[in-house]
Formats: sequence, C-alpha cells, structure tokens
Amino acid sequence: MTKILETDVVVIGGGIAGLWLFRTLNTLGYKAILLEQGSLGGGQTIKSQGIVHGGTKYTLTGQLTNASQAIASMPDRWRNALAGHGEGADPDLSSASILSNFHYLWSPGDLGSRMTSFFASKALRGRVDVLKKDQFPDIFKHDGFRGKVYQLNEIVLDIATVTKVLTAGLEDRIIQVDWSEQGNATLKTGDTGDIDAVELTDNTGERITLIAKRFVLSAGEGTQGLLNRWGINEPKMQVRPLQMVMVRHTHPEPIYAHCLGTTPLPRITITSHPDKDGKWVWYLGGGIAEDGVKQSAEALIATAKKEMKALLPWVDLDQAEWATLHVNRAEPKQNRLLRPDAAFCQPVGNGIVTWPTKLALAPNLSDEVVKMLKDADIQPSTDDFAVPGTFTQPEICPNFWQDSFKD
Ligand SMILES: Cc1cc2nc3c(=O)[nH]c(=O)nc-3n(C[C@H](O)[C@H](O)[C@H](O)COP(=O)(O)OP(=O)(O)OC[C@H]3O[C@@H](n4cnc5c(N)ncnc54)[C@H](O)[C@@H]3O)c2cc1C
Repeated sequence: MTKILETDVVVIGGGIAGLWLFRTLNTLGYKAILLEQGSLGGGQTIKSQGIVHGGTKYTLTGQLTNASQAIASMPDRWRNALAGHGEGADPDLSSASILSNFHYLWSPGDLGSRMTSFFASKALRGRVDVLKKDQFPDIFKHDGFRGKVYQLNEIVLDIATVTKVLTAGLEDRIIQVDWSEQGNATLKTGDTGDIDAVELTDNTGERITLIAKRFVLSAGEGTQGLLNRWGINEPKMQVRPLQMVMVRHTHPEPIYAHCLGTTPLPRITITSHPDKDGKWVWYLGGGIAEDGVKQSAEALIATAKKEMKALLPWVDLDQAEWATLHVNRAEPKQNRLLRPDAAFCQPVGNGIVTWPTKLALAPNLSDEVVKMLKDADIQPSTDDFAVPGTFTQPEICPNFWQDSFKD
C-alpha cells in the first residue's frame, strides 16, 4: 500500500534560494520538505563569488537605479543573520564563516570627475566609502598601486559553511531525489494544472505519496526541466553563460574587489578562497568571465594573466596554477538583459516558480514566498510530522577548488 505524507510545502532544489526558504518555513512551523537531486548548494550557489551585493555594482553607470535601491537592504539583513540576531524568522548564521567583512571597488587610474562626485554623493552614503591610503586593504598597500579604493557595505561569504548551517538539524526533512525513469521520484500532475503529488520510493522499496499545499520550484537551472515535466509554458528560463578563471598561488594577501572599467559591468571581480593547503585561490568573474565564454580555456587564461599583470603588477603569479570553470546563471527569461532588482517568484496553480537571480536576494525570495502562502491563507500545520528515515540524504557540496587544478 502507498503511504501518504501530507505537508504544507515541498521545496524542490536545495541551492541558496531553496535552503533559506526551507529553513525559514520550518522556523515558522510549516511542515516543509526539501527535495534535492544533486548535492546541497552544488549548483550556482557554490560556484558563486559569495558577495552579498548591496547593488553598488549596478550604480556603475553613475546613476542610482531601481535595482540598486531594492537590493540595498540585503547586506544588513545578512549581517544580522550572521551575527545571530536575524530579523523575524531569518536563520541564525552565526556559525557560518565570512571571508571578508567588506568588498571593495578599485579604479586602476583616475576616475572621471562625474564618477568621483557620484561616489561621494548623498545617494550612496553608508554604502560606499572612499578610503585613504592607510585604510586600504593590504593587497592595495603596495608602491605599484596608483588608483583609488572604495569600501562597499558588502560581505563575502564562505558559502559552503552557509549551506551547512542552513541544513543543520533539518536533515531528516531533506530527501535525495532522482527523477529519471529508474529513479525514486515522479512528479504527478493532473488536468487541473496543479501538481498532484510527488511519488517517492524509499530505500526499502516502499512508495510514499508526498502531497503539499504548495510546491516551490527553486531548482536553479533545473527549474526549466521541472516546468517541462509539469507541462507549464510560462514562466520561462534563460541562462547566462560565464567562464570563470581560477588562479591558485602563494601571494599571501587575499583580494575582494571589483575593478572599474569603462562599462557598467566591472572589468573584473576578484574574490579569494582558501584551499586546504593554505594557499589562496583567486576567483575571477565580472567582464572577463562574460567575455571569456567565447574563448578557449587557454586563450582566456592568457587574457587573465595579462589583466592581472596590468592591474596588480606587484603580485607575482609566475608559478601560479590556472584553471577555468564554465557555469550558467539561471534567471527568468526577460526581453532584455535587465539587472535583477528583486527575487523572481511567480505563482502557477499550486506551485511557486522562483529564481533569486542573486545569492544576496535569497531572503527577499523567502519573504515573497511566505507572503504568497499567507495571502492564500496557508497557515503552518500544527499536527505531528515524521518523515520516514528510509530515504537517502543529499551531501553538502564542498568547495570545488581543490579538484579544479590539474597536476
Ligand atoms: C559564477 C557566478 C558567480 C556569482 N556570484 C554571485 C555573487 O557574488 N553574489 C550574488 O549575490 N550572486 C552571485 N551569483 C548568482 C547566484 O549564485 C545565484 O543567483 C544563486 O546561487 C541561485 O541560487 P538557486 O538556489 O536559485 O540555484 P542553485 O544554486 O543553482 O541551486 C539549485 C539547486 O537545485 C538542484 N536541482 C536542480 N534540478 C533539480 C531537480 N529537478 N530536482 C531537485 N533538485 C534540483 C541543484 O542540484 C541545486 O542544488 C553568481 C552566479 C554565478 C554563476
């Protein structure tokens, strides 16, 4: 006989969006289950640069856009959660690690006067501070450096530690799924346009029908496949491909900074991640990764070497190891390439289709979903909730740096 497991919400996809939401729903008392097909955090989340943007990079046109205003509250929201006093039902992230308390922005030469006065303007007060030389992070305190450095109110996260904290204590509500024909999960849909259930087979061969008041799709790039299985045409997804560059070396100082270029997109954005031998892996994104998609790995590495020599000539990377990583950003399909101003959440039947579009916007996504539940009068159930312990739990994705460099 098939068992029925009644829940309030089934969250499908355990990247930062699904994980923050899943934790919040459980804190609020909802009976929520998370289904993950790969490893937790193993999609875009672990491959992100971990910057909790406050939107400053969207102001690089020299104008404060809607985008930058909407995202502006996110760094404080995360800071509070990281300090252990998150707002409302926000998670306590005090055991997660911060790589840098600030992200920086540097200009290799002189900024135009329009940008200089813009960065000093009232609109950016509290979000951008121009630094004097003695306040520079160590990486810019070298004689070879001539430009300006700005400090942004943006944190850089050690994302694997965030994933770990978000799942801690809730492991028994997280289930590894495989939607393939031989797999353990099937999406059941009916004529009404709703998702009727997810049918699961546990490790003993027992079948369990998982029903929910809402099914939240938060599977990043995998969401399009779920929409296809469900037979839903709208919303649609688009992907933005990137080729990131990684460089592992022995220079002792980390760098967390956008380099200003001539376009609104940073010329290069660098974050630093410790590997297990104590070396830094610098992770290079921004313009170089967008342009780099069209290049072979060898050609992109050659471009990156040139850029690093031009921008940070005092850093000796002659003995460094280099690698690249192809990764897609997954977003709702848009007519033009708008920068995100808020998380995307769209109700469809008894589902909610989501893309945060930025790691930083995971709390915003969670707010929107909780609001949609409340608007539909879906309250936390009060009765007991026991998930059979006969399912496999997905692993937490570790940092992938170590395996990215060939010997
Ligand atoms: C290179 C790069 C750098 C970035 N840097 C930043 C940054 O510094 N700051 C920032 O704010 N944002 C950044 N972003 C954007 C940010 O990473 C993403 O917006 C965010 O991680 C998306 O989270 P997500 O949970 O929606 O998706 P994902 O992290 O992709 O997670 C989706 C999860 O769903 C699972 N899944 C997929 N299909 C299924 C299925 N059918 N069933 C069950 N599970 C499924 C996957 O295995 C995965 O675990 C960056 C993105 C990239 C690519």
